[in-house]
Amino acid sequence: MNIVERYHAMDYAAAPEARSGADAWLASRDFAKSLFIAGAWRASAEGRTFETADPSNGKLLAKISEAGESDIDAAVAAARAALPKWSATSGYERAKVLYAIGRAMQRHQRLLAVLESIDNGKPIRESRDIDVPLAIRHFIHHAGWAQSLDTQFPGRKPAGVVGQIIPWNFPLLMLAWKIAPALAAGCTVVLKPAEFTPLTAVLFAEICERAGVGAGVVNIVHGGPEAGAAIVNHPGIDKIAFTGSSEVGRIIRRATAGSGKKLSLELGGKSAFIVFENADLDSAVEGLVDGIWFNQGQVCCAGSRLLVQESVAEAFIAKVKTRMSRLRVGAPLDKNTDIGPLVDRSQLDRVRRLVAEGAKQGAVCWQPDCDVPATGYYHLPTLATGVAPANILAQEEVFGPVLAVMTFRTLEEAVELANNTRYGLAASVWSENINVALHVAPQLKAGVVWINGTNMFDAASGFGGYRESGFGREGGREGLEEYLAASETQGPAIAPAVPRKAASGDGKADGNGIDRTTKLFIGGKQVRPDGNYSLPVMTAKGRAAGEVGLGSRKDIRDAVSAARACKAWPEATAYNRSQVLYYLAENLSGRVEEFAARIADLSGGSRKAAKAEVEMSIERLFYYSGMADKFEGRVHQPPARSVVLALHEPVGVIGIVAPDEAPLLGLVSLVAPALAVGNTVVLVPSATAPLVATDLYQVIEYSDVPAGAINIVTGHAAELAAVLAMHDDVDGLWVVAAAAICARAETESSGNLKRVWTGHGRSIDWRMPPGEAFLRRAVEVKNVWVPYGD
Ligand code: NAD
Repeated sequence: MNIVERYHAMDYAAAPEARSGADAWLASRDFAKSLFIAGAWRASAEGRTFETADPSNGKLLAKISEAGESDIDAAVAAARAALPKWSATSGYERAKVLYAIGRAMQRHQRLLAVLESIDNGKPIRESRDIDVPLAIRHFIHHAGWAQSLDTQFPGRKPAGVVGQIIPWNFPLLMLAWKIAPALAAGCTVVLKPAEFTPLTAVLFAEICERAGVGAGVVNIVHGGPEAGAAIVNHPGIDKIAFTGSSEVGRIIRRATAGSGKKLSLELGGKSAFIVFENADLDSAVEGLVDGIWFNQGQVCCAGSRLLVQESVAEAFIAKVKTRMSRLRVGAPLDKNTDIGPLVDRSQLDRVRRLVAEGAKQGAVCWQPDCDVPATGYYHLPTLATGVAPANILAQEEVFGPVLAVMTFRTLEEAVELANNTRYGLAASVWSENINVALHVAPQLKAGVVWINGTNMFDAASGFGGYRESGFGREGGREGLEEYLAASETQGPAIAPAVPRKAASGDGKADGNGIDRTTKLFIGGKQVRPDGNYSLPVMTAKGRAAGEVGLGSRKDIRDAVSAARACKAWPEATAYNRSQVLYYLAENLSGRVEEFAARIADLSGGSRKAAKAEVEMSIERLFYYSGMADKFEGRVHQPPARSVVLALHEPVGVIGIVAPDEAPLLGLVSLVAPALAVGNTVVLVPSATAPLVATDLYQVIEYSDVPAGAINIVTGHAAELAAVLAMHDDVDGLWVVAAAAICARAETESSGNLKRVWTGHGRSIDWRMPPGEAFLRRAVEVKNVWVPYGD
């Protein structure tokens, strides 16, 4: 045999990772008491248990205590009792605890990796080299945030007791993403791991005991949807952080509506992997292996849709097939394994069902001819070609090792195909031309974009999605925000709207001026309401002040279309937007007396107070004009050869339901930050003082605001807020109104999971200095990873 023949004849020998340490740990633990509550190990009060098994052979690993409602009650009570002390602990002391957790995890790194692989089925190379080190990095990184909280987030308070629910695909990493920022912010935690993968969370709780985490600061309860729902619905919880499917995310959105609980949702995805003809195709193939076959494709941000430029499609797919034929499907603990089993029989059945359905809808599914172990929930890596954009494999999250291929001709077509999904989690762009890649990245509706790379994560760079991939970020500054209470001081409850009655019963207006018709303002024009109804507006004294159009569902639809069609505003430079907003302020300043008279009339306050409100509104507009080109993103330098551009992008079309109190200042305080960063707005102004908003039409018209950037629909706030919440083309919704209106807006928003912020039915003192809170709500942070070096 010559050297070449010998080279080709070489095969892999088994390289099993030892599991004796994990077996010893499993044998020594009393899993009958696996709930970690108030610093002690407990059995479930009702004595219920469930089994966790090794997906590579179906063998039982442990019987775990399953938390019932009374156990969740106990865990929440423990977290509540621990909150005052933990949140008052100095940042330095909290930092030491986070650091101790990170270091203790490092000391048990191998055990954590082996347990993760036998419980989940993921190849040991991945748990050892990716999951566990990243989880450790999260704790050590957040130690620094704990200590610098006072200087970096002055005056902010922790969100309180946090309920956290995580999935099974990255059990330890998702736990770290949840617990580290919560502890850094001073919150206490009740966390529920997924029912398929509880083991590393049990070991983590042991680590917490040893690392000096105070009793009740971290509570870990086990169970399935029932235990999850008990956490979500628990009145003693202040914030819910959920990672899982969009379907359950929707249930949680509805369940928490009106409760005042803060909510972050990290949900599913259908991420595009875009290969341009000028890409380094061999690197892109390696990226693709990582993008879709990492963790058997059970990755929320898996690059499950390959979009490849037509000119190189054939050559690229041939390379992909060759590479797929060399993937090694095998035991998770074999260090040569590329693809392990799926987590459970039910997941395998689901993937098979989706592949069969995709084939029925015309996809051609190809699998390499490779060895598969006789037992275990294995699914071969699968390549689906001939996939139409509407095919189930192009639209549904498979959460398995299945890649759907589509081709494109032009850059524009690539962007359109990539965005043709209801999700918005991640995307990869492959091109050796950095100009092309950086031109495409901002056009992709995704929270993370990797250029010439994929599946890169770091504790300092936020991760999270747009649209039905959820809202909120994990990691970095943005991630920490999720665990801090809102910065506004809330005032008294807003009373439900009661139509004003005419005092004298004559309903006539004061004065002899020419009758003015007040319409809606849509697409830069004053238009009649679709239903041709009007709504009387009364002064505080009960005199008729005028009439405004009664906006309806149809008017909101028209306004949303106009806002969506307006490209001039989001595409304008920040400097340009800044000048237009300054000009708006300038033009408003010419009409101070007129607006003050209107406000005084409608609100019943003094003329002096009304004038002060107008002056302050102009000042506020000036502030946000100035911030338009200053509220910028950041650059992160992760421990990899990459820079991460954390770009601020507008949320998109934002619906705003403005308050009755301070009708001009409240309106400006909401609309101006939304506009400053490039959103377009559909505004429902105060119901008692809508004329303050309709008086603005002319100011807007002669201030160079592009048509469609601001649209104003007057009418009943309760009804119009619900229509905005249900509208699938509205990306964000802000509501300051009575509690019932806020609650309904949250419930109805679950359709497209738009980002909703409400004042929870409480009034806000708009005279407070504005800060950055609304600017933060007005942007999505998109993290663009740009690698460097050869
Ligand atoms: P899942 O939604 O079924 O379950 C997730 C968690 O929620 C589990 O702990 C489960 O017990 C619990 N749960 C289920 N029903 C519940 C209910 N009604 N109320 C409260 N809790 C409930 O998801 P899964 O199958 O475990 O995980 C896969 C999903 O997670 C995929 O859609 C994936 O994309 C998503 N995911 C997202 C991210 C992200 O960061 N965006 C990361 C990992 C996974």
